[in-house]
Amino acid sequence: MAGIPVPVFVVGALIGFVWMDAFYFSNDVAFKRKYFRASLIAMDCLLIGLAIVLNPGLAVFLPFAVLFAALSTAWTIWVTTFCDSCGRTIVHHQLLDPLLFCASCGARLTRPR
Ligand SMILES: [Zn+2]
Repeated sequence: MAGIPVPVFVVGALIGFVWMDAFYFSNDVAFKRKYFRASLIAMDCLLIGLAIVLNPGLAVFLPFAVLFAALSTAWTIWVTTFCDSCGRTIVHHQLLDPLLFCASCGARLTRPR
């Protein structure tokens, strides 16, 4: 935390709040389906780029960072779905027993995963 300039931390926190509002608290399914994946990839690029700008020595670990970001983003996309009825973002935490119905409105999920 000591190496992160305060404005960078504040802007990062604002981006995080806006992202959470757009993709977890909003009910706009069309927006979520259109931009969720792209936003995750953009955040990966932003975070990796920021880490290298703030500490150029970390560029040595760039292949590992890209691999980890790609795997974690693919995982997040795989376990996240959106309810067509109410727009809620649903994250499947149980791998072997995915949710078939929305926990908020009870509608059947068209794409459980
Ligand atoms: Zn629902």
